[in-house]
Amino acid sequence: MAKSPEVAHPVKAFGWAASNPSGVLSPFNFSRRATGDKDVRFKVLYCGICHSDLHMVKNQWGVTAYPVVPGHEIVGVVTEVGSKVQKFKVGNKVGVGCLVGSCRNCESCGNNLENYCPRQILTYGFPYIDGTITYGGYSDHMVADEHFVVHWPDNLPLDSGAPLLCAGITTYSPLRYYGLDKPGMHIGVVGLGGLGHVAVKFAKAFGVKVTVISTSPNKQDEAVKNLGADSFLVSHDPNQMKAAMGTLDGIIDTVSAVHPILPLLNLLKSHGKIIMVGVPEKPLELPVFPLIMGRKVVAGSCIGGLKETQEMLDFAAKHNIKADVEIISMDYVNTAMERLEKADVRYRFVLDVANTLKSV
Ligand SMILES: [Zn+2]
Ligand SMILES: [Zn+2]
Repeated sequence: MAKSPEVAHPVKAFGWAASNPSGVLSPFNFSRRATGDKDVRFKVLYCGICHSDLHMVKNQWGVTAYPVVPGHEIVGVVTEVGSKVQKFKVGNKVGVGCLVGSCRNCESCGNNLENYCPRQILTYGFPYIDGTITYGGYSDHMVADEHFVVHWPDNLPLDSGAPLLCAGITTYSPLRYYGLDKPGMHIGVVGLGGLGHVAVKFAKAFGVKVTVISTSPNKQDEAVKNLGADSFLVSHDPNQMKAAMGTLDGIIDTVSAVHPILPLLNLLKSHGKIIMVGVPEKPLELPVFPLIMGRKVVAGSCIGGLKETQEMLDFAAKHNIKADVEIISMDYVNTAMERLEKADVRYRFVLDVANTLKSV
């Protein structure tokens, strides 16, 4: 039987929460569970602001339980470990991404794909095993089962590396799984936001040629000069799109607004794959004829398992991959959310939690 919140969660914690669909965040006192046998407790240093945080605080997916403490790109330093913890010691730098639990029994869990476990537990706003609701990284500290904690590589920056825990693995995993990581291949990245800009960096590190596809012509310089993309296509320019038909082995589509996919399918070579990682609120129209004629694939992908998340961080450290970030203080979070809604950020806000979160 579930314990009462006071018994299950005796440790005082402090963060920022939204308490209604206005999405406005404010200081919030709450509590977390004591460190269990297999738990790692850590002080939060930095936490990225993911677009899903914005959806969740405003209940745009209709699943938010208030109050919600968002944050699933969390980097910190271990302050306490349970008696049965094997992988971590006090003082280790660690990360927690989108998941803090799964069944550990199903086929997906057995294959290190906790991200596809039907009983996965999300890092915030989700019922934990003890029946209480999980709280995320916009907070002073976290506690999580060591299985869902990753080691932070020494030479990976804590602040600009934090977004890799969601944006990074969301793009790294499909590039790997769908075989779009072979040197000499040519892929497209649709949308140049938090996800898209790290997709470009990973693809380049794999030795893959990258074309960024965007509705905004003014992102061309940024894509090519700053992020190292090989070329740029304006998606609503029919001439450019026509000239590029049949040139891509794959596409990572990061766009979460409703958009036509036929022009994107036309960019693919035969047997090309388009992988959706953005989440449009309404279904997209799927033209079947071009799929059949070119044996093309439309697929999806959702974050990554813990083993692959560790692999991705180690790869990022080795290849000097990090997000382009704007570091902000905790009391700027509501302004940051407003700017994020207008896509006014290059490319990720990261909260400097340790230095700017003040208890009340
Ligand atoms: Zn996220
Ligand atoms: Zn499972």
